[in-house]
Amino acid sequence: MRIAVIGSGYVGLVAGACFAELGHQVISVDNDESKIARLQAGEVPIHEEHLPQLLAKHHGKGLEFNGKLMEAVRACQVIFIAVGTPSTEQGTADLSHVEAVARTVALAIDEYKVIVEKSTVPVFTSEWIRKVMLLNGVPAEQFDVVSNPEFLREGSAVRDFLYPDRIVIGADTERSASLLREIYQPLTSGSYYSRGTIPSLIEAPPSPQLLVTSTKSAELIKHASNAFLATKISFINAVANICEAAGADVGEVCRGIGMDARIGSKFLNPGIGYGGSCFPKDLKAFASVAKELGYDFRLLDEVMGINERQRQLFLRKVRSALWTLKDKRIAVLGLAFKGGTDDVRESPGIDLVKSLLKEGCAIRAFDPAAMQRAQEVLPNAGITYCESAYEAASQADALLILTDWQEFATLNLSRLRNLLTYPIILDGRNLYDPTTMASEGFIYYSVGRPNLQYPSIRTNADLAVTENALMSIKSRSSHAVASS
Ligand code: NAD
Repeated sequence: MRIAVIGSGYVGLVAGACFAELGHQVISVDNDESKIARLQAGEVPIHEEHLPQLLAKHHGKGLEFNGKLMEAVRACQVIFIAVGTPSTEQGTADLSHVEAVARTVALAIDEYKVIVEKSTVPVFTSEWIRKVMLLNGVPAEQFDVVSNPEFLREGSAVRDFLYPDRIVIGADTERSASLLREIYQPLTSGSYYSRGTIPSLIEAPPSPQLLVTSTKSAELIKHASNAFLATKISFINAVANICEAAGADVGEVCRGIGMDARIGSKFLNPGIGYGGSCFPKDLKAFASVAKELGYDFRLLDEVMGINERQRQLFLRKVRSALWTLKDKRIAVLGLAFKGGTDDVRESPGIDLVKSLLKEGCAIRAFDPAAMQRAQEVLPNAGITYCESAYEAASQADALLILTDWQEFATLNLSRLRNLLTYPIILDGRNLYDPTTMASEGFIYYSVGRPNLQYPSIRTNADLAVTENALMSIKSRSSHAVASS
């Protein structure tokens, strides 16, 4: 199948590379000329596992990059729209990029094509695209509009695309539905899994189910899925706050409720809240579309409110751990909105760094992939970008873990303790076990779990652990005094 993917960002580029991997002929289009030039030169503009491998394998064979949308539309049977749909100031989805693409597609169409919404869009968008086509003189029989929402997660996007739980196709005609079925046939038949280059994480992965719905239902499936996942995150964060107040351990609570098959253990990870380019904007868009349709979806307002407050609570925790913040030297591990990506859009880590800078802290930051993108959105003054977690920790008054990168969960703790001026760690992603951290001599704060510090000392064991940590502080302070 000849496929055009319009928009070569986190979704479009991965989709284009994966369609080529499935054996299709793909033209990946973008209106950002510099991005297309970099892709044509063999560069990989985003950090995503397995993407470099797929681009190297297919570029110049099943995959080409082109800045000319009209040319790509004429050459292809199916056109996937994967451009950004950011929030407007009012919280609705800004569909201007989708509309711009639809208008150009309308000018280029000369025979039957299927236009596919891959971008996350509100319900009724397919009808708007249809209207744009008709208003621009495209005969109704020359096109269909299909919704094929994307459920990939940054950080595991390639694997998510090739080994999805399900494929949703919102199509109002059988002709368009069968073209989409054909595109995904290597996955639904399982034939890809015997020859693909990207291995599954599990042995003998099941073929995904393909669900055909109306276009409107498919559009709603995407918004409702993201809203549900965000709700799960905010719910467990709210529970974590109660655990903290009660002196319980949210890790134990998560295990207990996650064992219920109706609830499941995934997405029960308490922390500093969700971020990224999807959940925040999609929740706002879903709430606003619901309002337009006459339903006040107040549950979503609360989900967003809890998420916002979660960052503030963490900031308060930093304040209470360090007393005053002005002139404190803070090591920050993680700037990306989640591990495995360089994407910093709506990153809780970026937000917290901005707040700490406002309070007069000096930041020593490290992220394995997102440093360059972080520099584009953070102020210049007050931040030193470091080459490793250990360099960031060097002589810092405290260390903050803000992104769940796997490598942050396996740090050399004794090296870290020796580098920090004070052995204080505030873990916004619950990557470590509090007891281990205390036995390693840290004063360790996490989310929804008991902190080992003076007010919460209840047993002799707690006291011993805390005294260890305090002795370590004292010896480091006297060392600092002696060396100055
Ligand atoms: P992105 O900003 O990374 O990429 C969008 C790309 O579209 C950019 O490269 C931009 O230059 C290009 N573009 C904009 N207007 C264009 C035009 N008129 N012609 C050609 N190219 C154009 O965005 P993204 O993260 O890839 O998200 C794209 C869509 O997919 C959004 O609707 C998003 O909600 C949805 N989505 C994203 C994810 C994710 O994890 N990022 C997951 C599922 C769905």
